[in-house]
Amino acid sequence: MSLKVLIIEDEPMIIDVLTGYLLQAGYDVLSETNGRDGLELFYREQPNFVLLDLMLPDLSGEEICESIRRVSNVPILILSAKSAEEEKIRGLRLGADDYVTKPFSPREVLVRMQAVLRRTGVEQKEQTPLSFNEKTLIIDDRQKLVKVRGREIHLTRIEYVLLYLMASHPGQVFHRTSLLEAVQADQFFEGYERSIDVHIKNLRKKIEADPHHPRLIVTVFGMGYKFGGEKDVSYTSG
Ligand code: CA
Repeated sequence: MSLKVLIIEDEPMIIDVLTGYLLQAGYDVLSETNGRDGLELFYREQPNFVLLDLMLPDLSGEEICESIRRVSNVPILILSAKSAEEEKIRGLRLGADDYVTKPFSPREVLVRMQAVLRRTGVEQKEQTPLSFNEKTLIIDDRQKLVKVRGREIHLTRIEYVLLYLMASHPGQVFHRTSLLEAVQADQFFEGYERSIDVHIKNLRKKIEADPHHPRLIVTVFGMGYKFGGEKDVSYTSG
């Protein structure tokens, strides 16, 4: 399995050049030319690396960086024409891992990416299914398939996104606003924070042994939710 790289950049020529170069280097590449679609793709595809332009037509790269950091530690490399020192510092403060100033060569981007990957210790993305509580709950992201006590269940796209996001980070508290942002990728979804509660309630009905005393999706009072399942250590598929 190759690492999945997401490029969010509004200049098609840069996307083309980087995509060609990264494909050759053995990476899978996804791209979007605006911030909202870029974020949607991020939430949906959970890439292993993000190359992020700062000046985009809709959202700023800084906003995107902040949104991603609320839910993920994925390495982010900023690509930007902003060369002023304070802009770089701002990008790094927002949680980016490194910064390349335009114009750059694709080779420079690749070398920086590899350095960041080494530094952050990102390995190949987990491709085996996630398994919790002695196989009570199994999430196979490759097939977008969820099994509860051995039986496949049907989740809506939003329920799946919420479950996968939280189960990928057991114990981490997710504020409703972050969860909302993760599902808002769906443009037809009109959200208030409380609508997250409705999805969580439906999700619990499908995966909890006792939805009134949830153990998998746990409420963190006054904050949001967290995943309370215990990851099985030596689970392998098959
Ligand atoms: Ca730009």
